[in-house]
Amino acid sequence: MSGERKRLSLPGEGGKLLLHSCCAPCSGELMEAFVESQIDYTVFFYNPNIHPVKEYELRKEENIRFAQKHGVPFVDADYDTDNWFARARGMENEPERGIRCTMCFDMRFERSALYAHEHGFPVMTTSLGISRWKNMQQINDAGRRAVAPYPRLSYWDYNWRKDGGSQRMIEISKREQFYQQEYCGCVYSLRDTNRHRKAQGRERIKLGVMFYGEDSGGEPEAK
Ligand code: SF4
Repeated sequence: MSGERKRLSLPGEGGKLLLHSCCAPCSGELMEAFVESQIDYTVFFYNPNIHPVKEYELRKEENIRFAQKHGVPFVDADYDTDNWFARARGMENEPERGIRCTMCFDMRFERSALYAHEHGFPVMTTSLGISRWKNMQQINDAGRRAVAPYPRLSYWDYNWRKDGGSQRMIEISKREQFYQQEYCGCVYSLRDTNRHRKAQGRERIKLGVMFYGEDSGGEPEAK
C-alpha cells in the first residue's frame, strides 16, 4: 500500500456519517479509511445520471458487493432518471465540469442531504472529489449548498486525494478487480467520450467489459 492512512475523526460532535457514493472505485479508499478509523457510516447510492440502466446496475452492484464485504449499510436510492433529464434540459451540449455537472452534483447532493436530515446523520460527504477528473471546488460548493437548509447537518470537505489517497484508490480497485467505467456517467458524457475516441481512431465504449487488474492504468473516468 502507498503510505499510512491518517486516523480520521468526524468533524463536529461526531455521530454517524452518510457517504454519497458515485461508484466502487472512487468510494473504495473512503470506505476503507472509515473502517480503519472506526467511523460509523452508511453508503448512499443515488446516481440517476448514470446511463444506460445496464451501466447503472453494473456500478451499483459493484458498490453493493464492496459494502457487504465490510458489513456496511447500503442505501439503494431511486434511479430517478426523469427528473435528472428534466433538470439537464438545455444543457445537453455543455462540457464536463460545466453547468450541467453543477446541476448533476446539486441534484445528487440535495437528495443525499434530505436523507441525512430525515435519518439523523449530522455529517455527509461524497466520494466524487477523489477523482482527478473532477473539479473539487465545484463539488464542495454543491455539497455546502445541499446541507445549507439543515442547521444540524454539515458537509465534510476533506481532500481524499491527499496523503496517498489517490494512489490507494487505484490499488484497492486493482485488488478488488472493480468494474472500470470508461466515461463519467450520463448519456452526454458517453456521447462525448465516444466522439473523442472516434477522432483518435479508437473503438466505441463497450459496457461491462473493463475490470481493474494488475495491468490497469489510471482512475475511473467516472461519476
Ligand atoms: S458529465 Fe458526469 S457530472 Fe457531468 S452531468 Fe454528466 S454524469 Fe453528471
